[in-house]
Amino acid sequence: MTVYDPDNIFAKILRGDLPSHKVYEDDHVVAFMDVMPQGTGHTLVVPKAPSRNLLDADPATFGPLFAVTQKIASAVKKAFAADGVAIMQFNEPASGQTVYHLHVHVIPRFDGVPLRPHTGDMEKPEVLAANAARIKAALEG
Ligand code: 5GP
Repeated sequence: MTVYDPDNIFAKILRGDLPSHKVYEDDHVVAFMDVMPQGTGHTLVVPKAPSRNLLDADPATFGPLFAVTQKIASAVKKAFAADGVAIMQFNEPASGQTVYHLHVHVIPRFDGVPLRPHTGDMEKPEVLAANAARIKAALEG
């Protein structure tokens, strides 16, 4: 299936039908913690406009999406004193995409610390909540 499914997990989070640890929201974009983080502070930046991924997105989506991605990248770097920040984005199953609503991964990186597996272990909700609070504080500061 290569059409947009309005009942994908992120669409449900955007509608408020599923919970998330949100760190940022504006008219066009939401950012929340990844529940199976590949590193401490792994955050997902998600446009509100529905598209399956980058390939079928309206190009107008990308301005707000990447402006917020930059904001979140700076905030996670500050919040976790990271050495760098990885930005990742997958399109279709062969590339590693598992949730079919466009999103950008923002992952703090630390010298010598490898990434954990993609869609690996679930993080504890209290850890996600604490990390979200640190990112929100960095965004405000
Ligand atoms: P993709 O593989 O599509 O690039 O990334 C999907 C991401 O969503 C994965 O990193 C996965 O850990 C995360 N994820 C899967 N289900 C949920 C969920 O219910 N809530 C949140 N916050 N993240 C999820």
